[in-house]
Amino acid sequence: MKKIFLIFSIMLFSSVFALDWDSQSALNRVNNIGGKLLKANNVNYDIEFKVSHEEDVNAYANIDKEIYVYKGLLEHVDNDEELAATIGHEMGHIINGHCAKQGILNSIISVIANKMTKNQIVSATGQYLAQSKLSRTDEFEADLTGVDLIAKAGYNPLAMISLLNKISGNYIDILQSHPSGEKRILNVYNYIEYNYPSYIKKGYNTDSYKKALVMIQPSVEKRNSSERLVNKYKNEQEKLLKKKEKRAKKMQGSNTVWDGYYNTLLYLAN
Ligand SMILES: [Zn+2]
Repeated sequence: MKKIFLIFSIMLFSSVFALDWDSQSALNRVNNIGGKLLKANNVNYDIEFKVSHEEDVNAYANIDKEIYVYKGLLEHVDNDEELAATIGHEMGHIINGHCAKQGILNSIISVIANKMTKNQIVSATGQYLAQSKLSRTDEFEADLTGVDLIAKAGYNPLAMISLLNKISGNYIDILQSHPSGEKRILNVYNYIEYNYPSYIKKGYNTDSYKKALVMIQPSVEKRNSSERLVNKYKNEQEKLLKKKEKRAKKMQGSNTVWDGYYNTLLYLAN
């Protein structure tokens, strides 16, 4: 009887164990990488990292400065560098003040919706959708800030391209807007080529990165074959750097909780 009980206990224990996702080691992994990014980039605000057991390939940041990474995403990344790229992208949303903006926008919409007729709600929703075009720009911006954050922490920034190619289409974060995968990848590629050229020469050894390169190659070749397009590309990159500095200075004077991040943005601009 004792023996049967023992066997039964072992079976029960092992089945519970097998079902239970090891969320603690997942959290340790995310905390470790997130902590590295914070430290290397002088982000002196507390960003809290969390993991969630859902299977979706998902991550998001919120106005409370929490970054959630889902189990599905953790299993979808090839290595720590791609995970760093994910966390870097989400930190990019926080640092650039997107979450604050989105939080304010959402609360305005819900306040308005409570006091409106059906037609007014339809029109407000239209305005909201027009606003969400802005958040496509936010996605591009978060990608580039993510590149800076991970590069400063010693990760290969090409991991951002590898990640984006893998997830484009099924990656939903707080802003839920999906600029086309190719445009997003080209945006990141151009930025890395201009700011971190040595990485482009070395390349990156994942299937996903290699596939992304094949996809954007015609666009890159076309640009390189024309002096006019090369100049246009250089101008765009210069503008991006100026925009980053301007944003940082603007945040400094905004009198919001996001003020403190301006140091990070200035730091990234240099
Ligand atoms: Zn995003």
